[in-house]
Amino acid sequence: MTRRFLLQNLVAAGAFAQPGGRKTRNVFLVSTDGLRWQEVFRGADPALLNKEQGHVADLPALKASYWRESPTQRRAALMPFLWSAIARNGQLWGNRDLGSDAYVTNGKNFSYPGYNELLTGAPDDRIDSNDKKPNPNINVFEWLHRKPAFRDKVAAFAAWDCLPFILNAPRAGFLVNGGYDPYPAAGNPHLSLLNRVKKETALWDAEPMDAPVYLTALEHLRTKKPRALYISLGETDEWAHEGRYDLYLQAAHRVDTYLKELWETAQSMPEYRDQTTLLVAVDHGRGEGSPAWRSHGAKLAESKYVWFGVMGPDTPPLGERGKAPPVTESQVAASVAALLGEDYLQFRPQAGKPLPDLFR
Ligand SMILES: [Zn+2]
Repeated sequence: MTRRFLLQNLVAAGAFAQPGGRKTRNVFLVSTDGLRWQEVFRGADPALLNKEQGHVADLPALKASYWRESPTQRRAALMPFLWSAIARNGQLWGNRDLGSDAYVTNGKNFSYPGYNELLTGAPDDRIDSNDKKPNPNINVFEWLHRKPAFRDKVAAFAAWDCLPFILNAPRAGFLVNGGYDPYPAAGNPHLSLLNRVKKETALWDAEPMDAPVYLTALEHLRTKKPRALYISLGETDEWAHEGRYDLYLQAAHRVDTYLKELWETAQSMPEYRDQTTLLVAVDHGRGEGSPAWRSHGAKLAESKYVWFGVMGPDTPPLGERGKAPPVTESQVAASVAALLGEDYLQFRPQAGKPLPDLFR
């Protein structure tokens, strides 16, 4: 075995992993726009599971899928992977019923300010609309991409066509595939087909359906093996704004199946197995009751509440957090970096500290 070959094998085996014996070499961040902590921790909401408030088209079918007697059973029916895998082997923050508060600190409670806080680690008062303006702030993925170890090993896939502006894709330099933009699919028939499906199943102006976005990211993962991957899904917010509680729940459930497939795919690949941490987040919450559940923003104070999930080889399995210190949206960016052994606060001191109890 040549020295170079040996070195490659050692790198692949994670021998040059982080100090302190930490194992994470890759981080996946997945967000689903405006999915409430209420559904995540209590399951389907009885106040909305009806025709009047939730505009449910087929009530018996929806109840068969997601109605159970207890909130614990309901949440497991809605998001089985979250509750069987992440709650068992990782951590879930934001169950306000148990005294775990997670919230955005931007005071706006809508998407651009939320994603800016999530991805750059700090709120910014200059960001006060969802207009497609290039973000002046550098996000954690861009910062990672500038480091030789992560160069061209960073990618983002986003349903919403504003995300390339929030990530400032032209400046950031890594692959940002957002909105209806086709993935540069040269030679990959699978990706070409997904580009076509994305375009031809268009329902909303600002974003395609989640499925082709997620499946494009999954194919990128299989073929390009990024070390830092961001997947940003949007249907949960769209269906909630339309007042369709049935389609909102179905979108949330689909996100859960994506998390499962993403995780299992990673565990089947030597580059990722036992050295990958998954983070799950949202950009804002929503109102409580009807019709407030459809909306969010500064006028709906409760829409500042969010939730986070984290699971990986370095994170202790503390499960669903209760009586826990409050955590904020601004702590996720530094968490992404810390899991990869990097100190984002050195670059951006105003960013939130990494989430507590992230490491064993
Ligand atoms: Zn919204």
